[in-house]
Amino acid sequence: MSQSNSETGDSLWVFSFGSGKAQATEDQKELLGGKGANLQGMTRLGLPVPPGFTLSTEVCRYFYAYQKYPQELQAEVLEGLKQVEASTGRTFGGSNPLLVSVRSGARASMPGMMDTVLNLGLNDLTVEGLIRQSSDARFSYDSYRRFIAMYADVVLGIHASVFESLLEEMKASKGVVSDAELGALDLRGLIEQFKQTIRAHGAIFPEDPLKQLWGAIGAVLGSWMSPRAVVYRQLHKIPEEWGTAVTVQAMVFGNQGNDCATGVAFTRDPSTGERTFFGEFLINAQGEDVVAGVRTPQKIDASEGGLQQLLPAAYAQLWDIQQVLEKHYRDMQDIEFTIEKGKLYILQTRHGKRTAASALKIAVDMVEEGLITEHEALLRVEPRQLDQLLHPRLDPSASKTVIATGLPASPGAVSGQVVFDSETAEKWVKQWKRSVILVRLETSPEDIHGMSLARGILTARGGMTSHAAVVARGMGLACVSGCSQMKVQLKEFHTDAHVIREGDWITLDGSTGEVILGKLPTLMPTLGEDFRKFMSWVDQTRSLEVRVNADTGLDARVARSFGAQGVGLCRTEHMFFDVNRIDAVREMIVAETSQARHLALEKILPMQKSDFQAIFQEMEGFPVTIRLLDPPLHEFIPHQLSEIELLASKLGIAVEQLQKKIQKLHEFNPMLGHRGCRLGVSYPEIYRTQVRAIFEAACELSQQGFKVQPEIMIPLVGDWRELKFVRDYCVEEADAVFKKYGHSMDYRIGTMIELPRAALTASEIAQYADFFSFGTNDLTQTTWGLSRDDSGSFLNAYLEAGIYEDDPFATLDRVGVGRLMKLAIEEGRLKKPHLKIGLCGEHGGEPSSVEYCHELHLDYVSCSPYRIPIAKLAASQAYLRAQIKCKG
Ligand code: PEP
Ligand code: MG
Repeated sequence: MSQSNSETGDSLWVFSFGSGKAQATEDQKELLGGKGANLQGMTRLGLPVPPGFTLSTEVCRYFYAYQKYPQELQAEVLEGLKQVEASTGRTFGGSNPLLVSVRSGARASMPGMMDTVLNLGLNDLTVEGLIRQSSDARFSYDSYRRFIAMYADVVLGIHASVFESLLEEMKASKGVVSDAELGALDLRGLIEQFKQTIRAHGAIFPEDPLKQLWGAIGAVLGSWMSPRAVVYRQLHKIPEEWGTAVTVQAMVFGNQGNDCATGVAFTRDPSTGERTFFGEFLINAQGEDVVAGVRTPQKIDASEGGLQQLLPAAYAQLWDIQQVLEKHYRDMQDIEFTIEKGKLYILQTRHGKRTAASALKIAVDMVEEGLITEHEALLRVEPRQLDQLLHPRLDPSASKTVIATGLPASPGAVSGQVVFDSETAEKWVKQWKRSVILVRLETSPEDIHGMSLARGILTARGGMTSHAAVVARGMGLACVSGCSQMKVQLKEFHTDAHVIREGDWITLDGSTGEVILGKLPTLMPTLGEDFRKFMSWVDQTRSLEVRVNADTGLDARVARSFGAQGVGLCRTEHMFFDVNRIDAVREMIVAETSQARHLALEKILPMQKSDFQAIFQEMEGFPVTIRLLDPPLHEFIPHQLSEIELLASKLGIAVEQLQKKIQKLHEFNPMLGHRGCRLGVSYPEIYRTQVRAIFEAACELSQQGFKVQPEIMIPLVGDWRELKFVRDYCVEEADAVFKKYGHSMDYRIGTMIELPRAALTASEIAQYADFFSFGTNDLTQTTWGLSRDDSGSFLNAYLEAGIYEDDPFATLDRVGVGRLMKLAIEEGRLKKPHLKIGLCGEHGGEPSSVEYCHELHLDYVSCSPYRIPIAKLAASQAYLRAQIKCKG
């Protein structure tokens, strides 16, 4: 909180600007908010900024801490007002009245989330002064009635619609359609009605301008905690303690005739990034009219009826100023301006919001123009935004009916006809060439086939690391998971207001989690030269490697095209689900003897071998980490009677016998059951066969001259003895293969760290591991005791209550899971200083988790193919930020 400063006479809480003098500087954003700081900056640049003063964010913090204003504030505000009066030659509450606006402005922009009051200072007396000042009674009464309505809405809590209705009634009684057709007397009548209405609501409109000012300041500060501001902050991760500043500024009017205008301009096109001066304006209007969309704004350009033609001198000045601002702030600017009787005023400038495509283009262009460095360009693009470039997205101009919202599990916007099972998906796609969206309660590995054919996946259950989410991300498919508002019943699903049946069209937006009715237009991504150049800078500026989670040669190829530096996780179970293999896999599972299991495994070996070969080939020269079978065996077994009968007949066994086996495999808690290396302990022949397939594939390629670097990864290890047990026979298998081929190679055997016990005993485990890879999906699940497949149904309640800041399956929990990771890294590297350590959970493609991995000095993160550019940029930004911190 601020300190006493009475000796110096400097203000503590209020910072003035105007007439070319500024009490603070533009880099004081923390103190003055973005808007307040830039007003100081623009004043220093000598730009035509109406004078004013800003109450610092410290006032906001004080206000919320003590439920009152700091002692010195009143005097400082009065002093600020005095300076504005001196600059404008007008008096607050006087006969030549000064009117002010009162606006919020936090450190990060929160467009439209907080309150604003315009035309403050008007009352029954000062409005007469305004009439004399402007020689325009209509304008003056119009400003007054707008002020009363706005003040009542923002400060007195009487909804704006009450006043809009009165306005509409007045228009109807006068037989006119637009506000502009109401005369001065009509507006004066309206003012009286507005005041009566306020009284009828038990409130009082203060005539005293100072009372008005304090009311508005209080309301703007209060709007920091308004529900919409709170939600916006949660969404954009803006800390509550930042607080908002409040800027009080002399009003200028864009609505005093046809030599007046108001508008918004961008120094470059915010949707394409093109270097064109871009914007919109309205002649004879106040700022809120542009935002409200009552009149359609015109484009700022040289065309017929454009600003250049209508107000050429002001346009020429605006054009020069936009250049000055962009050069000065070294970024694309979003500028608010008003022209009052031909004179231009700049009310605000800020870094303009932009699409991903434009962010990339602007960053690259600005480097080429010498405005910013490559490193600065890298920090200008949000890693998450790159998603927009890699997947189709909804055409923002299309109108949409959102019928439900789930978790944004895998990005991209797709439309398709709804199907509820894989068989239908196959028939519709293969025979009828339809686009389908597979809707399931939840997916299981059995659905892989249908998923691979669908354009998108929608599930009622499951979180960000559920099967559906993980597989969809790997395949680059759009996916909305955990959509609990949806009830799936046979061949239809219900939401509150809609029933969707098989064949109906829906659209999924996997970037927002929205499920939308019907087929919507989408925009396709294009990766041009800018992307290539930008990613080459990214690659030169990071220490964390980025690998891919890839299960097929095709995944690996896509990943290579994005510059993956190896495979960090190949989940071998996904290979088992191919329609041509599943029977052999099932035969292996139901086998009663080790010999029968062997026979079935022999059928699987050549299939796996060819998969591994495809991946090794695509990843030539890079390490490929192959994880041995992880999920519980019952996942591979059919559960519907018709499927069981079919399988029994294929295997030549009785249906009852198969059913018994299936019952035996049933587990109450399969996530903690017979899975991971536990399979390798109880059925070594499964892992032995996999290891043989890996090394046979590797030897054959290596003999042909390919550079292969196999890494075997053992899942779900909790004790060093498990790892040693499995490792020993893996080494035996490798040796046997090398002997058979008369050829050997370097390889590694490592483990996933995905159970708390593994992290806690990392120094013992490290003795038998050539590398660690954090499986943060399971590590999150087991650290929190939170099922990764069931959390979707209550997650929102936790997020809304602020108990979780983020979904821990999406953003790595640094406090808890991170602590275990730190311990494992420290102990592992103490035992083996050069122990390679990576992360291959879904967090490997999430920017803030990647940043944490950089901070923990991991060697690599591994993520699904389409998230590689995101992870790389996040790694590069983490590297740059660490450097900046070091220097600072
Ligand atoms: C993990 O647990 O983080 C992991 C990568 O393995 P899976 O998601 O396959 O359990
Ligand atoms: Mg796991």
